[in-house]
Amino acid sequence: MLRWETIRKDTSYGIPPNLVDYDRERAGFSWSAARVKLQGLPDGRGLNIAHEAVDRHAASDRATAVALRCVGRDDAVTCVTYKDLALATARFANVLRALGIGRGDRVVTLLGRCPELYTTVLGTLKNTSVLCPLFAAFGPAPVAERLRLSDARLLVTTAELYRRKIAGQRGELPGLRHVLIVGEGTDQPAGTLSFRALMTEADDTFTIPPTAPYDMALLHFTSGTTGTPKGAVHVHEAAVAHYVTALYALDLHQDDVFWCTADPGWVTGMSYGIVAPLLHGVTVVVDEGDYDARRWYRILAGQRVSVWYTAPTALRMLMRTTPRTGPYDLPRSFDLSALRFIASVGEPLNPEAVVWGRDVLGLPVHDNWWQTETGAIMIANFAGCDIRPGSMGRPLPGVAAAVLRRGEDGRAAVVDGHVTVLEEPGAEGELALRPGWPSMFRGYLHDEERTAAAFADGWYLTGDLVRRDADGWYWFVGRADDVIKSAGHLIGPFEVESVLMEHPAVAEAGVIGRPDPVAGNIVKAFVALRPGFDATTTMRQDLLAFTRRRLGPAVAPREIAFDRHLPHTRSGKVMRRLLRARELGLPEGDISTLEKDTSEKDTRSQGKDTFHPERSPSSPERTEQSA
Ligand code: ATP
Ligand code: MG
Repeated sequence: MLRWETIRKDTSYGIPPNLVDYDRERAGFSWSAARVKLQGLPDGRGLNIAHEAVDRHAASDRATAVALRCVGRDDAVTCVTYKDLALATARFANVLRALGIGRGDRVVTLLGRCPELYTTVLGTLKNTSVLCPLFAAFGPAPVAERLRLSDARLLVTTAELYRRKIAGQRGELPGLRHVLIVGEGTDQPAGTLSFRALMTEADDTFTIPPTAPYDMALLHFTSGTTGTPKGAVHVHEAAVAHYVTALYALDLHQDDVFWCTADPGWVTGMSYGIVAPLLHGVTVVVDEGDYDARRWYRILAGQRVSVWYTAPTALRMLMRTTPRTGPYDLPRSFDLSALRFIASVGEPLNPEAVVWGRDVLGLPVHDNWWQTETGAIMIANFAGCDIRPGSMGRPLPGVAAAVLRRGEDGRAAVVDGHVTVLEEPGAEGELALRPGWPSMFRGYLHDEERTAAAFADGWYLTGDLVRRDADGWYWFVGRADDVIKSAGHLIGPFEVESVLMEHPAVAEAGVIGRPDPVAGNIVKAFVALRPGFDATTTMRQDLLAFTRRRLGPAVAPREIAFDRHLPHTRSGKVMRRLLRARELGLPEGDISTLEKDTSEKDTRSQGKDTFHPERSPSSPERTEQSA
């Protein structure tokens, strides 16, 4: 485990946290009781996410509260109240109905973070159709593949994206009946319809049809970090988990101004950028622009954001521009006094980033863990509890987690249909969750085999390796596929990467195992340096010595390569499998979710990428320097 000092819970908070006594809250929790927090459709017609997120507030004294505060690329702000959103989503549901799109039909979005995206998502759910969001920076091939895989019936996009990514292959997508084009003006590609014109004609009253809690609502493709992206199916009942987890793990209170920086093309941007905060009736900040340190601080300050949910990669990028110590102190030139809670997800959060938050932003970062498949946060650091930097925290109320013994292949060992739960503190194994939480995925679309393989002996197997300490805190070790076996040791890449990132010159690191005839594997690190540091032999030796001192020779990297462009998924995660494939000269596999280099106009001019590590002017493109 990582030895960083525990950050004691802040007892001076202005607003009492929603979860103060962890054990008591867990003991008294049940999902059926939690469901009462949602209203349900009138006359017992079921449970629909859009009713809970929009119509319920529109019919209450929250009607005139701002639901969405959209910050345009030019910083112009457009506010949408809950009432506005109720009317717009009713119109969109009527548009779908008029076009013959009904229950269960897939509606796909390929849009930036514009107001129409939010109308489409929630209007689709009202109509009991299924929403599948795609990240707008995907190229034509991944877009077409996902349109096919999802059985898309209707697509909402812009004229430019349509021409560049769809038009050429429309003929190969016979199931795609309609394409709606968002945007002002008269640019209407052949074979498409105008979103605006249809909305103007549509009626703004709509009665949500009966919706069963287990009706399919959302289809999400995974990030593709470990292989081909999978389409995870989620149902309307997931809203119960979205509500509860935002209450506990994001500590949402009704007067919060909440900003989730993830794009709704990914599950975080959908579950926590749209659904969960609207369920709580808070104000959601939507930034149409891209990552830029100054812009982000401007939004945090200018929009008076109180709760901020972001990603480790983004935090590390902010850290690059604002070291913990040093003369350049960007955040302190902004008024961040409204900010009261910061959380992060998506990748391991190195302890240094947690502490950087406390020292530079005035608040520690609360890491939490979940997956596309879990639909909602499962393990978290809570506002009212201590933080152990480097730990993902503890399971949420209602979530039963376990550490399972691993077999030869690195995954949980299943013997005669049974798994072994490891109880002893510090034992390392595959993280498993007991099915029963409402946002659990109901399968990978069109892939029963993969779905079945994700469950064993009454557990959902996450594919992630963890340790649980004696007090029940979970520590991420690595993905089952990423763990390195070296000279009889099992090494989690995260621990090595975290230590590397403690070095003042290191901005980011990706660690892999490289086959070695003697040790089985040796640890190899790919390192991106901060601006102002040079990739020299001295630097390499310094890093090797630094990690050896902290980790010992058995775990420290034996080789270090400097690499300005660590491969990331478009959702911002380091793709270790790609580092390994490139290192070993193996096929790169599915790279549809690989974040493209900024030199590619396709992504940059569109600017839809959420995160773009800046290019360090001083480090060379890539220097191989092996020990
Ligand atoms: P794919 O399943 O296609 O390989 P992916 O697993 O990256 O892609 P997501 O569902 O977006 O797709 O990501 C979930 C994964 O992200 C988790 O299984 C875990 O490996 C990682 N992750 C999420 N949060 C954390 C965290 N707090 N600490 C460490 N890892 C995390
Ligand atoms: Mg995964």
